[in-house]
Amino acid sequence: MLTTTRAENAYELALQNFDAAAAVLGLDDDTREMIKFPERVLTVSVPVRMDDGHIHRFEAYRVQHSSARGPGKGGIRYHPQVTLDEVKALATWMTWKCAVVNIPFGGAKGGVTCDPKHMSPHELERLTRRYTSAILPLIGPEKDIPAPDVYTNSQTMAWIMDTFSMMKGYAVPGVVTGKPLNLGGSLGRNEATGRGVFYTIERACEHLGLPLNGASVVVQGFGNAGSVTALLLHNAGAKVIAVNDSTAGVYNRNGLNIPELIHLKTLTGKVEGFPEAEPITPEDLLTLECDILVPAALENAVRVDNAPRVRAKIVAEAANGPLTPAADRILENKGVFIIPDILCNAGGVTVSYFEWVQDEQHLFWQEQDIYDRLERVMKTAFHDVLKIRLDHKVHMRIAANMLGIGRVADAVRVRGIYP
Ligand code: NAD
Repeated sequence: MLTTTRAENAYELALQNFDAAAAVLGLDDDTREMIKFPERVLTVSVPVRMDDGHIHRFEAYRVQHSSARGPGKGGIRYHPQVTLDEVKALATWMTWKCAVVNIPFGGAKGGVTCDPKHMSPHELERLTRRYTSAILPLIGPEKDIPAPDVYTNSQTMAWIMDTFSMMKGYAVPGVVTGKPLNLGGSLGRNEATGRGVFYTIERACEHLGLPLNGASVVVQGFGNAGSVTALLLHNAGAKVIAVNDSTAGVYNRNGLNIPELIHLKTLTGKVEGFPEAEPITPEDLLTLECDILVPAALENAVRVDNAPRVRAKIVAEAANGPLTPAADRILENKGVFIIPDILCNAGGVTVSYFEWVQDEQHLFWQEQDIYDRLERVMKTAFHDVLKIRLDHKVHMRIAANMLGIGRVADAVRVRGIYP
């Protein structure tokens, strides 16, 4: 059962967020014109021979929003509801996100409108390889570097790397990040997003004087981002009282055993049926009383209709765009501390950057090295955003956008424009 509707256009929301931050920054119209919209948008048809022999045509996209600060960077999403506007929104957020954590990338994103849950591994491989050749002119280690997103993973990245390398005639590991370790992947990449979310929650708790030990947590979405965040919070002594995925939700007011829940999810692909827990509906889960709510599924999970009933002290946006602007205002007025997506989930792209650096240098780092560097980056970004919030008396989302957009605006200004 889905709780998230995509009735609200994510790209419209991204533009609204841009305008709000640009206004506080006092950005001039020329700069706004140069940095607001995607630089390149590619729509491709991807014909795939399905296992039953017929050919199915999939619609797919790659959007490069900005190359002002470096090559494009952004995941590839496989989902039935992928639209061009959604990919444009996600690419836009990637630009500001990379700038918030101050890594030398611009924003990009890809998506294929497909239903991976109803496709075989062979069909997914053929789809991925054909999609890769369709977007091949745009991608490359110096141009645009894809990564996993919803319903894509390290295997998908391995197929992309292989297809790209076949075309070049030599191995090019730096064309994607989130690869398997034996193919130039980085230690710590798989859990990087959740780890980054965890670091920002730690900082938020410190700022608010809320002890993490014993704090109650609710997690919507139990995939890569959600499950790792839940595990690290559980290990830090927090009580994860409810989680759900696209099929079901589980609740235990005394706290769920997260390592065992991850084991079940790995075995069955679902959280459903977890012992010592009662079922919970998607709506009830989002409105449970808790200290920390972590939306880690898709966009628009918290909207004008359910935001008034959200009873969390902190909302940590592991997902991209989980709050609509109306929901944002409602939560802010209620005094909820929001850790905005472009800060909260930036750990993934940060370790992707580390992976790309390691691939380019052919020199690989230790796991602890990666965690230490990631923690430093996330801590600095959190404090940079918090400082803007306090200096300008704005909310965290506007502060994060001001930081990201301000850095991109500076880059564009100093680069100038070709006459
Ligand atoms: P994933 O495919 O690993 O997991 C998605 C999870 O969400 C699954 O458990 C799925 O069952 C669940 N889900 C889907 N619809 C749901 C619904 N309506 N209600 C509850 N659960 C639902 O994906 P992921 O990589 O964890 O991505 C999740 C979010 O985090 C996305 O918004 C993505 O853009 C964002 N994100 C991911 C990364 C990353 O590195 N993986 C980085 C930054 C941001």
